[in-house]
Amino acid sequence: MASAFAGMRSVAPVVFKAGCPDCRGRFELAASALRLVLGASSRTTFYSFTCPDCGAAVRKPAGDRIVELLTGSGVRTLRLHTP
Ligand SMILES: [Zn+2]
Repeated sequence: MASAFAGMRSVAPVVFKAGCPDCRGRFELAASALRLVLGASSRTTFYSFTCPDCGAAVRKPAGDRIVELLTGSGVRTLRLHTP
C-alpha cells in the first residue's frame, strides 16, 4: 500500500472533493489548493483550504488515511512538531 506512493510521481492531476461548512458548496480542489498541517497529535492534524465559492478558510481534521492520501498526492505539508 505505501509503496504505491513511494515514487511520488504525479501522473494525472489529482482532485479532492470537498465541501464548505459555511456556504454548503461542494467542489473539487486540486492538490495545490490544499494544505496539510501535521500536529503532534491527531487533534492538531488537519487540512485546510479556501472555499472557492465564499472565500471562507475551512479546516477539517485529517485522519491517518487522509494524511497518507494528501501527502502522497503532493499537497503542501506543514509540520508543527517542535522538539
Ligand atoms: Zn463556502
